[in-house]
Amino acid sequence: AFDVLVIGGGPAGAAAAIYAARKGIRTGVAAERLGGQVLDTMAIENFISVQETEGPKLARALEEHIKQYDVDIMNLQRASALIPAKAEGELHEVRFESGAALKAKTLILSTGARWREMNVPGEQEYRGRGVAYCPHCDGPLFKGKRVAVIGGGNSGVEAAIDLAGIVAHVTLIEFDDKLRADAVLQKKLASLPNVNVIKSALTTEVKGDGQKVNGLVYKDRTTDQLQTLELEGIFVQIGLLPNSEWLKGVVELSPRGEIIVDAKGQTNIPGVFAAGDVTTVPYKQIVIAVGEGAKASLSAFDHLIRTT
Ligand code: FAD
Repeated sequence: AFDVLVIGGGPAGAAAAIYAARKGIRTGVAAERLGGQVLDTMAIENFISVQETEGPKLARALEEHIKQYDVDIMNLQRASALIPAKAEGELHEVRFESGAALKAKTLILSTGARWREMNVPGEQEYRGRGVAYCPHCDGPLFKGKRVAVIGGGNSGVEAAIDLAGIVAHVTLIEFDDKLRADAVLQKKLASLPNVNVIKSALTTEVKGDGQKVNGLVYKDRTTDQLQTLELEGIFVQIGLLPNSEWLKGVVELSPRGEIIVDAKGQTNIPGVFAAGDVTTVPYKQIVIAVGEGAKASLSAFDHLIRTT
């Protein structure tokens, strides 16, 4: 059995595995796709101390760093169930879709999250070429340009306010006939001179010139007319979905499906820790996921020296 078994191989899982292995304890990491969301990222300019890198390059660096240590890496393994230890001192079990099962004294859950997509023509084609999901990451790439933000919930309105300070113009597009964001955010948004809001609008297509985004088509739901906006960027802010479906009913989750953790990364199950985008820790970023992974791993080690 493992002392520490990490589920998920993104930045959080990589940090957790390295911190555990450096304690000289038996460590494993099982992941559906080693590298995680970083693999889908183009330019990364906010991983502090690395001025600029690309997603696949950072993912490779994470893997190389893990491989410097004695860590059992099990890639292409999708976890499907967690069976917690029945009593202190017993082992937790994780089952995989492949039929495999692994046992461990402690677990670190770091299965990340995924952005909800619009599922319209052009979105995939222009992903990373005008279609973006993270204003903290990609906002500065659109300096002086025109962008749209899709979604009028808190994250959409926060993104529009944030982007308005960087880009030339922001159009916020909301499907409903009203915004759902907190009143204080809506008030702030309304005070900004370079933002306009279009409600009752369904985005139907991302347009581009073959290289990058140059427009967006939406249907005005009050008239059923199609309208086109000329712009250079589209930030999709219609939700971030934690990869926690497999933990439902076993590990305590927030109403949004995030694993509830305390300041040490501890979940409601003793010996089971969690880190990164799959948790309630706010602000989903690589630098944060790495720190949280390290923290959860140190917490797991602390748990081991007290219980075994
Ligand atoms: P993830 O990276 O999501 O990794 C999760 C891991 O768990 C993966 O290995 C996955 O395969 C695995 N997994 C999922 N479900 C299971 C399962 N059931 N069983 C086993 N394994 C499973 N952040 C920045 O800081 N800067 C940026 O510039 C930036 N740009 C981004 C651009 C894009 C397009 C995207 C999508 C995200 C970007 N982010 C950026 C966010 C950043 O990638 C995430 O915050 C970070 O990757 C979270 O790390 P994580 O380890 O928590 O989760």
